[in-house]
Amino acid sequence: MPRFEYPCPGCRTRTNLHDADCGFDGVQWTDIEGAYVDLLARLSRRSWSEDALRADVEDWGGIHAAALSRLRGDQRVDEQGDQLELLTAAEYKERVTEPTMEPLKTIYEKGSVPGAHDHSIFALIAFYEMVGLSWEETKEQMLVWLDESGTWTRGGFEEETPEELVDSKKHVYDQGYGWKQAGKEAKAVIDRRL
Ligand SMILES: [Zn+2]
Repeated sequence: MPRFEYPCPGCRTRTNLHDADCGFDGVQWTDIEGAYVDLLARLSRRSWSEDALRADVEDWGGIHAAALSRLRGDQRVDEQGDQLELLTAAEYKERVTEPTMEPLKTIYEKGSVPGAHDHSIFALIAFYEMVGLSWEETKEQMLVWLDESGTWTRGGFEEETPEELVDSKKHVYDQGYGWKQAGKEAKAVIDRRL
């Protein structure tokens, strides 16, 4: 299945498999990617007010608006007053390592509990893959999280070390989708226990 460089503005997929209720199912990927390129080509040069950006993109349409709101929602673009600023790759990576949206926020902050481990780890790894971390960066983040959130100490793993555990989940990174469903199931278990 082809993988696209940008996430669907509606459901974040990078493949042709959209969520059931996604309004962009059936929209051409060339149109979606074209809209991102229109925005990023401009924002990578300097900051823009939203009005100026809209005026500068010749055929501004619903896909542009949705792509911009996805960039904002995913924190790729920051707002300083009325100016939109694109984060550098380094700034962005630093920011996304602590997910601020649910269900990932709960998993990240509270840590996982036995019974939720598979889904928690699946969701975090798939999320880090989605936001563009390399496998090495993902692994490093997962090791920090297992330690600092108390997840490893709570037990319930067959593996003997956190490294072994994370390595055993590399297929999730390679597969690269599905964090939302796994995340919801993990959060439900964590919310009941903690
Ligand atoms: Zn979609």
